[in-house]
Amino acid sequence: MHASKFFISTLKEAPSDAEVVSHKLMTRAGMIRKLAGGIYNYMPLGLRVIRKIEAIIRDEMNRAGAIELLMPLIQPAELWQETGRWDKMGPEMLRVKDRHDRDFIIQPTSEEVVTDIARAEIHSWRQLPKNFYHIQTKFRDERRPRFGVMRGREFTMKDAYSFDRDDEAAGRSYDIMFDAYMRIFRRLGLEFRAVAADTGAIGGSRSHEFQVIADTGEDLIAWCPDSDYAANIELAQASALIAERAAPAQALAKAPTPGTVRCEDVAALLALPLDRTVKSIVLATDKEGKTELWLLMLRGDHELNEVKASKLAGLKEGFRFATEAEIFEHFGCKPGYLGPVGLKKPVHVIADLTVANMSDFVTGANEVDAHLTGVNWGRDLQEPEAVADLRNVVEGDPSPDGKGRLSIQRGIEVGHVFFLGTKYSEAMNCTYLDETGKPRTMVMGCYGIGVTRLVGAAIEQNHDERGIIWPQSIAPFEVVICPVGWSKSEQVRETATRLYAELTAAGFDVMLDDRDERPGVMFADWELIGVPHRITVGERGLKEGVIEYQNRRDAAAQKVAPDAVRALLG
Ligand code: ATP
Ligand code: MG
Ligand code: MG
Ligand code: MG
Repeated sequence: MHASKFFISTLKEAPSDAEVVSHKLMTRAGMIRKLAGGIYNYMPLGLRVIRKIEAIIRDEMNRAGAIELLMPLIQPAELWQETGRWDKMGPEMLRVKDRHDRDFIIQPTSEEVVTDIARAEIHSWRQLPKNFYHIQTKFRDERRPRFGVMRGREFTMKDAYSFDRDDEAAGRSYDIMFDAYMRIFRRLGLEFRAVAADTGAIGGSRSHEFQVIADTGEDLIAWCPDSDYAANIELAQASALIAERAAPAQALAKAPTPGTVRCEDVAALLALPLDRTVKSIVLATDKEGKTELWLLMLRGDHELNEVKASKLAGLKEGFRFATEAEIFEHFGCKPGYLGPVGLKKPVHVIADLTVANMSDFVTGANEVDAHLTGVNWGRDLQEPEAVADLRNVVEGDPSPDGKGRLSIQRGIEVGHVFFLGTKYSEAMNCTYLDETGKPRTMVMGCYGIGVTRLVGAAIEQNHDERGIIWPQSIAPFEVVICPVGWSKSEQVRETATRLYAELTAAGFDVMLDDRDERPGVMFADWELIGVPHRITVGERGLKEGVIEYQNRRDAAAQKVAPDAVRALLG
């Protein structure tokens, strides 16, 4: 590329609303221009970086066996009504009407549409597993769009969705995606950490976030330098609380089955031998702020109904089992799905005991043997708010795996892998026929990467006072050649042009700055833009048979013979 034929539009000043360095530098470098709050034009330079990130993601997704398709930006409301998310999503989901007054949404994610595809196209166990992905625009009407492209309203996401015959196969699909994500973020040249995340989801026991380490990150992560423990702060806090309560819990778990249990008597209630029939105990606050305890029955757990009657018979009026629908009705919520999607606030999940504000709705973990028992309402949980205080985890705290001390870092969530189970496939009747011809529900996983957020995250991690420092794999240009005296010196022109041709032929992405600017202007622009390698060609140097090379991270340039430069370019 020649600079005169490209579009370079750098600025001295950062926009006044830019709070973080990536937003400032992306604007100053001319990568983005704001159109509206959280909505940006990706300018030619910015788009080059996005395309490089996409290419790496696509390459690794394909390598991992995922299959690319493209689902529409605009999706009919009916599918979202089928899963209940039409009511549940709240104002973050942008809704539009067509000329016939029909409801549509602009997709914030694509579980509904991809499940609709799978149920229509996949009929037999022979067609499984399948993993479909696309790289598509998303719209989320974020309450507080900020940090430029890092929390935009319109942004690009790679989202993938796996379909499997059973939990075990779905676990394998999850692991394959996890590995692919590790490869992707390594290739992007970023310092990152995969952290276990609170699933908060029924049936979903596995979730990891991929966090780019940066002081400006909105998330906190806790990890142990002496082991492989790494979790997001919510999960680390929940684990810390579980550990704190483990001793009395174990004692109570051994207690004999009590007969009558009253709602107030949480300790006794939790000492009930919880088996698969009781998936969650929910401590929830209703709209009046009244706290109630509910045992949550899961829809779709078919063994449940048989056991339900006998269990209920032994229990008096103090509390009752409730179906999901009853709970929704009681708390005045519209029917929908339990799960983390669309939650406005973090849900306080403490193993099987979930404390949540009903307006945000609730979930519970269902790991066998992960039930938290022995919690006494009066002693441990006066108010739902009090739980938040209990869940503090700080630098130097013991790691939940007992193998060392915790370090706390800030991170930017750039990717998320999630075991969905049958949440969507069940609601949408997405089934296949197994070997015996019996219909079975597909088991799903979903896997997102914030493509445009990654651009910002890379800059948060790689910059200095002069500008951006791109990892070479995603730099808009890998090498810039700055000829000093482009219009005046035949020799400079000739050497610069020859180098340009040679390096381009060698496979580098090269920019030749033929704008005939002074060196100071060229250098300032390319340092701001963050090109990793700079070659300066000047008449004086050429007389000595040298050109200058400077890595973006170097303090000064070095003189090298023109033929020796290629070896320095990585
Ligand atoms: P966050 O916690 O930051 O709001 P999320 O958990 O809501 O993100 P997911 O639903 O997990 O996001 O979506 C997958 C990925 O999409 C995220 O890991 C993130 O990289 C990206 N993403 C989510 N929201 C935005 C946004 N508003 N702007 C840019 N990228 C986003
Ligand atoms: Mg979000
Ligand atoms: Mg998140
Ligand atoms: Mg997420």
